[in-house]
Amino acid sequence: MRQGSIRLGKVLGVPLSMDLGVVVIGGLLTWGLAAIILPNGAPGLVSSVYWTVGIVGALLFLGSLLAHELAHAVVARRNEVEVEGITLWLFGGFAQFGNEPRTPGAEFRITAAGPATSLGLGAVFLAMAFGLAQLGVPVVYTTMLAWLGIINGFLGVFNLIPGAPLDGGRILAAALWRIRGDRVSGRIGAASVGKFVGGGLIGLGLFELVVLQGFTGLWTILIGWFLFNAARMEHTHFVGRRALGALTVGEAMGPMPETVTTWTSVADLVEGALRRTSRPTVAVVDWQGRVVGVVGMDAVRRLPAEQWPTTDVVDIATSGDAIAVASPYEQLTDALERVGSAGGAHVVVEHDGRSIGFIGPDEVRRAIELGRLRGPRPSTVMPPPPPGSVPNQRWDPPLHTS
Ligand SMILES: [Zn+2]
Repeated sequence: MRQGSIRLGKVLGVPLSMDLGVVVIGGLLTWGLAAIILPNGAPGLVSSVYWTVGIVGALLFLGSLLAHELAHAVVARRNEVEVEGITLWLFGGFAQFGNEPRTPGAEFRITAAGPATSLGLGAVFLAMAFGLAQLGVPVVYTTMLAWLGIINGFLGVFNLIPGAPLDGGRILAAALWRIRGDRVSGRIGAASVGKFVGGGLIGLGLFELVVLQGFTGLWTILIGWFLFNAARMEHTHFVGRRALGALTVGEAMGPMPETVTTWTSVADLVEGALRRTSRPTVAVVDWQGRVVGVVGMDAVRRLPAEQWPTTDVVDIATSGDAIAVASPYEQLTDALERVGSAGGAHVVVEHDGRSIGFIGPDEVRRAIELGRLRGPRPSTVMPPPPPGSVPNQRWDPPLHTS
């Protein structure tokens, strides 16, 4: 879920949330329909009719956008990809996933489901507009349905442009993955095209705005700018991943951090392990000595000091999906892939049933530097974010609102 968004409950078991920006797109769409499209298509009606039909049309479009995201989510679940949620926001919709698809085929199916849904909905709305017009339904309604058909068709086609993070970019990444046999290199290729597409959209928007004096150019520029930035982030992230590619877990790991037992109080943690260590995290172990979580100063800071003596560290520790167990001989990227996207990367390295090392965000950063020293020079000078910080998501911007 994005920060600052409102939870709306679950649809088909998928958590749905909404950003307040949706009100802005909803308003723009309603205005475009009520003030321009409907009066042109069906002139001579009172304005309250245009606004009422406009609001219904805008809501139906937001519903179509949701159907596009749900299609990604439902197919993802069928392909063993965990769905964290769907958000509607200012620039369209996006679906967020917990893990990456295992095969290029799964990547393709999950991605193609979205545009296929939009194109299908577009065809249905156009057929309804045409059929109802034949039956003599008032033109104001059929105009609204025809608009829904066109805008859904446009959403489907625009998202097939082959630049990440658009759906077309994920399809390109899946194709490159199949051809080269390497997922990371596919994502790097699709992100490079994405930067190019974003730059192209900015140019197109400027042309629209300056030469054609069309204000929709502003929207195109904004979408292009967001696309360019998202593609650049993905590019940097996967170039970092590639730098990690040759390293094993054993090469990247640091020593085990200080440990505390699950039943240690937060007050004892602050006075004991956290005071002794210079590292950002302390491992939390159960009575058998197994690592069940990690805890750092951030978690302590979020708890009011008067609760420190009565709270066990296990209650504030990061645990579950945010921690993976790996063997020292495993590829580092494989181990990091298993760590959930929330809360940064934490890998406990085990050998012969004993915890022998640890990989946290600091070790990952060091490994990326090491990988770069040893491997081919990446094409960017920006420090890559630690893996897991670029969310695995699909983003579907609507290009024009009217
Ligand atoms: Zn999509």
